[in-house]
Amino acid sequence: MRVPSDGLSGSPPRLADGIIQADVAVIGGGVIGHSIAWEARRSGRTVVVIDDAPGTGASWAAAGMLAPVSELHYQEEDLLAFMLDASARWPAFAAGLAAASGADPGYITTPTLAVGADAADRRAFMDLRAVQQANGLSVDLLTVREARKREPLLSPGIACALDTPADHQVDPRLLVACLQAALAGDGTGDEGGIKSGAAGRGTPAAGAVDDYAVLARAAGLLWQDGAVAGVGLAGGGTVLAAETVVANGLHAAALEALPENLYLPLRPVHGDILRLTVPRHLQPLVTSTVRGLVHGVPVYIVPRRDGTVVIGATQREDAPSAMDAVSAGGVYRLLRDAQVLVPAVAELELLESTARARPGTPDNAPLLGRVPVAGAEAGREPGHHIAGLIIATGFFRHGVLLAPAAAAVCRELLDGHQDPRWAVFNPGRFSAKPGARTPARLLNTPPIKETA
Ligand SMILES: Cc1cc2nc3c(=O)[nH]c(=O)nc-3n(C[C@H](O)[C@H](O)[C@H](O)COP(=O)(O)OP(=O)(O)OC[C@H]3O[C@@H](n4cnc5c(N)ncnc54)[C@H](O)[C@@H]3O)c2cc1C
Repeated sequence: MRVPSDGLSGSPPRLADGIIQADVAVIGGGVIGHSIAWEARRSGRTVVVIDDAPGTGASWAAAGMLAPVSELHYQEEDLLAFMLDASARWPAFAAGLAAASGADPGYITTPTLAVGADAADRRAFMDLRAVQQANGLSVDLLTVREARKREPLLSPGIACALDTPADHQVDPRLLVACLQAALAGDGTGDEGGIKSGAAGRGTPAAGAVDDYAVLARAAGLLWQDGAVAGVGLAGGGTVLAAETVVANGLHAAALEALPENLYLPLRPVHGDILRLTVPRHLQPLVTSTVRGLVHGVPVYIVPRRDGTVVIGATQREDAPSAMDAVSAGGVYRLLRDAQVLVPAVAELELLESTARARPGTPDNAPLLGRVPVAGAEAGREPGHHIAGLIIATGFFRHGVLLAPAAAAVCRELLDGHQDPRWAVFNPGRFSAKPGARTPARLLNTPPIKETA
C-alpha cells in the first residue's frame, strides 16, 4: 500500500479528505497500544489509537496480576528481567495515570499467596521456590496457621502457603479506561499540559474522536520511499504518521503490507475467566491474590476493591467456535478448584464468564522493537531498521504487567534509542534469514482461528 498523493507534509495534524495525521499512529487499543500511546503523548507527540473495538481483546479478560516472581518459568531469564523492570515501573505508572486521568486504575499492592492443595502441589511450589531464590527472588514459606491468620477463609486442608510480597495486581478494565481518559485529556496530569515541541507536537490529532481515537479497523501499512508512512483503514480513510506502532495483539500478522521478511508467529492461547460478587458477610473473601495448585492444576483468585473477585487460570490451545467462546469444562474446573482452596467460593454470585485468547509466541516473549531491514543482522545494527515502524505484540500471559515497560521501550525507540537489554525481543527473530524472501502467504496470514 502506498500513501495517497499528498503524502507526509510535516505540517500540523489536520483532517482533509479522510486523512488524519499524527506523529504516532498506534494500531490496536488494548493495554499495550493504549500504554504506548499515552507514553508517546507524554513525550509531547500527537498520537492516534486505531481500533474499531478498543479494550475488548485479551485486555478485557485479563486478571491483571502483576506477578514477575510467581510467573517465573525455567529458561526465561530475559523475560524475567523485563518483567522485573516492568514491575518496578508500576508504582510511578499507576500514580501518573491516576493524576492524568483523575481516576483510579485499581492498582493494589497486597501480596500474592501461593497455595497448594496436596503434597505434590507443595513439592511443585517448593521446586519453583528454589528456582525463584536462585534468581534472587523473595518467596517466604508460611505455616498453614500463619496463612489462615492472614486469610481466614482459606481451607484448613491446604498443604502449603508461600508469601510473595512483590507480586501485585491492577484492574485491566479500569486501567484501559484511565488510559483512555488520560489520552482524551491533556495526557500528562501536569497543570500546564504538554509542553509543545516541534510543530504539531503536544496538540491533539485533528479528526480523531476525543482527539486521539480512530474507531476503525486498520487494513495495512502505508509505505513511502522504503519507510512506513502510516496506516490504511478498512473501508477507506488514511492515517499518516511519522511512526506507526503495530500493537493489535493476535491480529498483527494479518495486517497487509507488513515488511516482506517479517514473520510474526502469533498463536492464540485461550483462557476462561470468571467474575463473582462476594456477599457482604464474606467480604473480603481474600485480601491477597491467591495463586493455587490443586492436584497439579493452576487456579487463581484475585480480589478487587469493589468487592468482586476474579477466578481464572485455564490455558487452552484448541480451536473454539469463536475467539470469545467460554469452555463449560473450563468454568467447571475453575469453580471446583477455587472451592478446594477457599470453600466460601461456593457462596459467591457469578457475575460473568468471559474467554479471550492471549497472543502467544514460540518463546513466550514479546515481539517488541524495530524491524531490521533485509541484510542487517537482527538486533545488532540499530541503524539499519525500517524507518517509521515499531512492532509491539506477543505479550502472551504478561501484557498487563509488561505494559509500562513496553511503553518505555517504545518511547526510547521513538527518541532514537534502543536499550540493549531488550534487543533480544526484536520482532524479526523468527523471520526468514536476511535476504531470503518471505512466502507471500505470510504477508496475508489467514484469520487466527485457522492457525490454531
Ligand atoms: C484469561 C486471561 C487472563 C490474563 N491474565 C493476565 C494477568 O493476570 N496479567 C497479565 O499481565 N496478563 C494477563 N493476560 C494477558 C494479557 O491479557 C495480554 O497479554 C494483553 O491483554 C495483551 O494486550 P494487547 O494490547 O497486546 O492485546 P489486546 O488486548 O488483545 O488488544 C488488541 C486490540 O487490537 C485490536 N485490533 C485487532 N486487529 C485490529 C486491526 N486490524 N485494526 C485495529 N485494531 C485491531 C483489537 O480490537 C484489540 O482491542 C491474560 C489474558 C487472558 C486471556
